[in-house]
Amino acid sequence: MHELSIAEDLSAIVLETALRETLAKVTRVNVSIGQLVQIVPGLFESAFIECVRDTVAGQAELCIEIVPVRMKCRKCGADIGIEDNNFSCSACGSDDLEMINGRELYIKSIEGE
Ligand SMILES: [Zn+2]
Repeated sequence: MHELSIAEDLSAIVLETALRETLAKVTRVNVSIGQLVQIVPGLFESAFIECVRDTVAGQAELCIEIVPVRMKCRKCGADIGIEDNNFSCSACGSDDLEMINGRELYIKSIEGE
């Protein structure tokens, strides 16, 4: 399952960070996930909770921000949002696009005490 392997990677980073910052407890984890990663937030959240069970992050609240897809047209330079998987420039119709946002997956911040 896609969500589980991502949750495993992220929880490892959270626990490493907690250790490095000597946090006794992680209270909140803010994650940014690109729309193209196609995660199911509910599944991801339960996978994450499973991964951090009985750790300092066991009670952490997970906040998932889905980052919309944005592309830059290589032909006309327009900065466009992508909806409905329609990967063509809304200004000139070109499909020669460069991705700006949409595939990221990172921890924005970790809060704890
Ligand atoms: Zn264009």
